[in-house]
Amino acid sequence: MARLGNWIEPFPEGIYVKPADAWVDPSQPKERALVTHGHADHARGGHGAVWATPETLAIMDVRYGQQCANPVAYGETVRMGEVEVGFVPAGHVLGSAQIVLDYRGERVVVSGDYKRRPDPTCAPFVVVPCDIFITEATLGLPVFRHPDTGTEIDRLLHRLRHEEGRCVLVGAYALGKAQRVIAELRLRGHHEPIYYHGAMERLCNLYETLGVPLGELRPVAGTKKEELVGRVIICPPSALNDRWSRRLPDPVTAMASGWMRVRQRARQKNVELPLVISDHGDWDELTRTIKEVAPREVWITHGREEALMHWCMLNQIKSRELHLVGREDDEEE
Ligand SMILES: [Zn+2]
Ligand SMILES: [Zn+2]
Repeated sequence: MARLGNWIEPFPEGIYVKPADAWVDPSQPKERALVTHGHADHARGGHGAVWATPETLAIMDVRYGQQCANPVAYGETVRMGEVEVGFVPAGHVLGSAQIVLDYRGERVVVSGDYKRRPDPTCAPFVVVPCDIFITEATLGLPVFRHPDTGTEIDRLLHRLRHEEGRCVLVGAYALGKAQRVIAELRLRGHHEPIYYHGAMERLCNLYETLGVPLGELRPVAGTKKEELVGRVIICPPSALNDRWSRRLPDPVTAMASGWMRVRQRARQKNVELPLVISDHGDWDELTRTIKEVAPREVWITHGREEALMHWCMLNQIKSRELHLVGREDDEEE
């Protein structure tokens, strides 16, 4: 009997689906690419043709220019050779998808990046039972247990109210995290204008255009220092400690990331208010997902493979690591 999934070939630069002659999230330009979501470690420019959700394609257009695009909405399927290809929500960022591949009675799900917590800016993860579940393990260690998101946002708002003459500057990745932090602030009743670094503008506008309301946003550029007192300001993590932030009124430096669970990381980046808000599943989310998906095999693309492989062994699920390159730390989350 042929080995399970022998029609899927992992290479360092991506996952090759032989009978469809297509690659999933290739890090090198390929003729035919299936892309799970818009983060730079999964979506690259320069492919011949791209299959992705309409939202991911719109994000790629903003980042890389116009693509030769084949939109596939959630729940739709396309046929590529003998393979049926479907896109199902992954709950990671707007437009993020798990790619469901059906071929001769075997089903492989490439989950890309995902999380299970509610996120007001994207559709929730859908469990798709399959033979092989290809998963990340970015935060795949038992030490990663994310607190409730609302509680983290409340800590931010508490600081904002109690720091006279200061603002709160939140470092957040420009795609996904920034918009999620803004939307979560709105859910917790913060309806004041939120200010942003210029690098956030295009993607925030795109989210609004694609139907994710973010409330009143204003650029920091051209705003008087006094007006920024008592405000939340969102910037890319790289701007937290650079010259740009010196124009702000004595900022409380915050950062929203799953990595903020690791105190050294927060200290390294001079973060005064670490907010554990992640777009990757924590240990419980990863293991719960594998239990629910109930695959015969788990293939792990990147992250902390050893711990998850050990867990799979204890739970009598066959697992294997794929060693994809270019996703080592998945900083962009
Ligand atoms: Zn991602
Ligand atoms: Zn990733």
